[in-house]
Amino acid sequence: MRLEFIPYFMHFLYNDESLPHIIVVGGGFAGLEFVKAIRHKPYRVTLFDTNNYHTFQPMLYQVASGGIGPDGIAYPLRKIISKFPNIAFRMAEVIEVFPIENRIHTSIGDFRYDHLVIASGAQTNFFGNNQLQQHTMQLKSIPDALDLRSNLLQEFEKAITLRGTGKEIPVLNFVVVGGGPTGVETSGALAEIKKNILPADYNELNASLMQVHLVESSSRLLVAMSEKSSEAALRALLQLGVQVRLNTAVTGFDGEKLTLSTGETLNTETVIWAAGVKGKVLKGIAEKAIGHSNRYITNGFLQIEGYSNIYALGDIACMKSDPKFPHGHPMVCTPAIQQGKYLAGNFNKLVKGKAVKPFHYFHPGSMATVGRHKAVMEIFGFRFKGLIAWFGWMFLHLMWLVGFRNRVIVFVNWMWNYLTYQRAIRLITRPYFKKGAAKNI
Ligand SMILES: Cc1cc2nc3c(=O)[nH]c(=O)nc-3n(C[C@H](O)[C@H](O)[C@H](O)COP(=O)(O)OP(=O)(O)OC[C@H]3O[C@@H](n4cnc5c(N)ncnc54)[C@H](O)[C@@H]3O)c2cc1C
Repeated sequence: MRLEFIPYFMHFLYNDESLPHIIVVGGGFAGLEFVKAIRHKPYRVTLFDTNNYHTFQPMLYQVASGGIGPDGIAYPLRKIISKFPNIAFRMAEVIEVFPIENRIHTSIGDFRYDHLVIASGAQTNFFGNNQLQQHTMQLKSIPDALDLRSNLLQEFEKAITLRGTGKEIPVLNFVVVGGGPTGVETSGALAEIKKNILPADYNELNASLMQVHLVESSSRLLVAMSEKSSEAALRALLQLGVQVRLNTAVTGFDGEKLTLSTGETLNTETVIWAAGVKGKVLKGIAEKAIGHSNRYITNGFLQIEGYSNIYALGDIACMKSDPKFPHGHPMVCTPAIQQGKYLAGNFNKLVKGKAVKPFHYFHPGSMATVGRHKAVMEIFGFRFKGLIAWFGWMFLHLMWLVGFRNRVIVFVNWMWNYLTYQRAIRLITRPYFKKGAAKNI
């Protein structure tokens, strides 16, 4: 019996125009979890994303530091949804929402919806400082990570040509701003490059000239974790030679000189801004529905304030009804994943005429890795540091990666890096030119 017709039949069945149409903006952690949990249900779903892939952002810093390639942490959205007959994908930017008409305007035209799920995530927050926005580098996407990787390697090449002149010193000064997991992990990775890669590949350079600075405005690193974990992370970074400045804010950077709230200045060409994110809101949703950190204020059912058929999920959602999180849930993967599943579950319950309950967030914990055998992990009420936390971090991230192939690629790269002390992907595949600067190399 020939069974090839079944997917076509299923597709035809699910594309019944009379089914309610749900538009999902964003195939990140929240949007993807939502579409996975609503597959095979009587809804027509269209997923929009500006990229044709899902990005596993927690490991962007490993791409930026040459530990793994971008294909290890990105996964094609079409590949994921190809088995789901009721889900369609459109690679497009959603530009504006017209709530009264139940319509969105996108870069490929206008589309009508019955329900709109906004899971557009977050963007880097420069807190209104245009100078920092223009001159610092950010780490929010795969292109950002590749730019950072190119910049890092180009600066080493440049330092070689300048060696002995003193001009190589600012070129080899790398500043990371923000002591959250991204800042801690990025500065740890840079310090390991200084320790293992510079002496091997750039032996014409005096490796001790490379300096990694981490600047944090609050009194400790990893503020979302316990003080003990903060101290352990600080100790590990100091052991790696990172110069950590706490209680210090960055006040300006003109591309050559970084100024700090302490009055100190640092000559550097590379400042990595990891000091904050804010919601990536869409035009057309009322201003009064936008709250803390530029996120949509939602009720306990994730409906955006003032709208009954528009929902927010993940980083963009600020649910204030959870007393444990008065400013909304943390902007990390776990709320995004849980909210995606929860909202799809509500739609599925509605089909069966079942009542829905408000969202309840379960916080499993936090973790950050600093370098080889150095990490901190707080999970299900237990606290770990050092080797156990490091292996735990690697195991969980490997499990969370989307796609078996990606897990294999990342695992093989990690093994290679571990055994050889190398970072395999040290390629300048597309040179990075600093904004407003002459050619970097
Ligand atoms: C460098 C870095 C490190 C991190 N480390 C950790 C960590 O260790 N642990 C942790 O839990 N969390 C970490 N996070 C945070 C975590 O990645 C986010 O909380 C999570 O990705 C949020 O999921 P989301 O679905 O809300 O948004 P995202 O995953 O950001 O997805 C949003 C999607 O929407 C798309 N999009 C945006 N606007 C539009 C538009 N207008 N039209 C169409 N598509 C659009 C984007 O292309 C993207 O695919 C890190 C984040 C970064 C940047």
